Amino acid sequence: MHFYVLTLFPDMILHALEESIIGRAKQKGLLTVEAVNIRDYTHDRHQKTDDYPYGGGAGMVMQAQPIYDAYRSIVQRIGSRPRTVYLTPQGSVFSQSDAKELAQEAHLILLCGHYEGVDERVLEEIVTDYISIGDYVLTGGELPAMVLVDAISRMVPGVLTNADSGESESLEGSLLEYPQYTRPYEWNGKKAPDVLLSGDHAKIESWRREQSIRRTKRNRPDLLKKADLTIKEKAVYGVHDGMKGAETGASPEAENKN
Ligand code: SAM
Repeated sequence: MHFYVLTLFPDMILHALEESIIGRAKQKGLLTVEAVNIRDYTHDRHQKTDDYPYGGGAGMVMQAQPIYDAYRSIVQRIGSRPRTVYLTPQGSVFSQSDAKELAQEAHLILLCGHYEGVDERVLEEIVTDYISIGDYVLTGGELPAMVLVDAISRMVPGVLTNADSGESESLEGSLLEYPQYTRPYEWNGKKAPDVLLSGDHAKIESWRREQSIRRTKRNRPDLLKKADLTIKEKAVYGVHDGMKGAETGASPEAENKN
């Protein structure tokens, strides 16, 4: 899969994606991440890429022309108009299912805004998806773009090896993941749950499932509505269709007792 990040700060993108799983996937040729410097496409002799907002108000607005030309340079090279995401707090909030869906694309352009944002006319011309990474405002789109590259890349076949497999991960099937433990058996006076050392795979699976449901009920009751639970599980954990988050929240103490 090929990512093209349209940015005023290409070094931010490139340095952050050299390490660990994403860095390895790039070396294996499963991914490419190209940071396209919008400033390289300005016609301004001082390399300016922003200007004052029409109508007044604070801050600056990124101009349409350099962004459009940077976009067109990619389109011309690859011979098609790929899906193009504008990272914006005004977009729909990014989810694991979006990551899976976007991982089907061969090419993806990510546009990072700055200052007060981007001239609306170029957004209308090139953007197919408006995505936010959460209900808060950041100074620029680079961190959100990196969040998308990371989450989407993990869904590209071959990127996760067995060692970092995401099969039973949080949000798969709308449940959070169960708690994890590793050696030593006892740390700081706390023992790892004995069931995990029992070698009984059925019991381990059932303990993990129970923990996942309890944890989701406690931390993210909103997700439980969508979770794939059996009728028995719904009865045991007090989950009923149409319930509201607040009705289901169990206290952490309640979870720990179980
Ligand atoms: N004036 C804009 C507004 O109210 O929608 C916010 C601009 S913000 C200071 C600058 C840039 O950061 C945005 O253009 C966007 O690319 C990025 N950004 C900020 N918060 C974001 C978020 N929650 N998700 C995705 N991108 C975000």
